[in-house]
Amino acid sequence: MSRIVQKYGGTSVGDIERIKRVAERIKAVREEGHELVIVVSARSGVTNELLARARAIHEHPSERELDMLLATGEQETIALTAIALHALAVPAVSYTGAQAGIFTDKVHTKAKIKTINARPIERDLKAGKVVIVAGFQGINEDGQITTLGRGGSDLTAIALAAAVQADKCEIYTDVDGVYTADPRVVKDARKLDEISYDEMLELASSGSKVMQSRSVEFAKKYNVVFEVRSSFNHNPGTIVKEEVAYMEQVVVRGVAVDKDQTKVIVSNIPDKPGSAAKVFRALADASVIVDMIVQNVGRHGIANLTFTVPQSDTARAVKALEPVLDEIGGGQVAVHERIAKLSVVGVGMKTHSGVAATLFQALADVGINIDLISTSEIKISVVVDLDRADEAVRAAHAVFGLDKV
Ligand code: ASP
Ligand code: MG
Repeated sequence: MSRIVQKYGGTSVGDIERIKRVAERIKAVREEGHELVIVVSARSGVTNELLARARAIHEHPSERELDMLLATGEQETIALTAIALHALAVPAVSYTGAQAGIFTDKVHTKAKIKTINARPIERDLKAGKVVIVAGFQGINEDGQITTLGRGGSDLTAIALAAAVQADKCEIYTDVDGVYTADPRVVKDARKLDEISYDEMLELASSGSKVMQSRSVEFAKKYNVVFEVRSSFNHNPGTIVKEEVAYMEQVVVRGVAVDKDQTKVIVSNIPDKPGSAAKVFRALADASVIVDMIVQNVGRHGIANLTFTVPQSDTARAVKALEPVLDEIGGGQVAVHERIAKLSVVGVGMKTHSGVAATLFQALADVGINIDLISTSEIKISVVVDLDRADEAVRAAHAVFGLDKV
């Protein structure tokens, strides 16, 4: 007998028929003799719909009330899943985050989990019940309902897996796992059998959103091995785990593209101590998320700063920069929206040389110009023209042999 935590995302519990199918799956696993803790999301679209309703009433709804509202999405699906299990004669009980003992800090709408009191869950598992827990929510020390940030049901599942010392943690979604590239763009993209936490995090930050990044960070910290797989078939998924030596044999694990970035150029600023600090302080104060910073210093004491920001932050970035340029004594801001950031990711880069040269040559061979370049220990990112982004992904995917097993 093993103890399994399964998380079903919004599409997997998207309607009554799907909830019934999830219940059948749970029943089958339970009949093999396993203990099960199930985490469910709200039905797909519900969280967005609830947010839209709140914003239709008030431009800036209170964050406490938002948490109160958003938590209802998951409360619906836990109860329906329990009822679906009862209909199959499977003993099951549903819990809100608070009832499941998930204690968080006080930061409404993006709370962090502090501790989990797993005793009630342990008691029910011992009594032979399937325990169903609402994802994405908890309770703070003042007894207020909190939520864990968008996509937070993943975090609930990973944290519960750590708390109940599960033998297995399975994240069920609507794709078969993590792919070498987006299969809609690259037709010979392959599903990966396994990937390291760090690779998964880099791919997520590069535009391949399979899971909430915070949940992967949490899994890494507590060494929770988990599998991302589909609830619509029985194919094995992708195992996400700590890096092991043989993973470095593969130089590039995957290619991601982020088409949601804007390039901002701040040109002709005085080349003196404090200029960059002031520019990025102003952006930080405006809560703009900055990526890929490049600075070059020309002659005559003049510098240019180029960086990328999410499209949704562009207007805020430009507005925040105006007063700073006056303060530091000059400079102009230009914005280029039709760009994409392509990233190749792999722990093998730590021990292989020539990865950047190979990528750049592959892009050159198809006549794609590279704009910005940035690297980390396990990632190389380049900015290219948005119109050629898909072509660039295919070239990178092919040159690193990702289409071959
Ligand atoms: N329902 C929440 C959201 O849409 C949490 C989740 O689905 O993971 O963000
Ligand atoms: Mg999700």
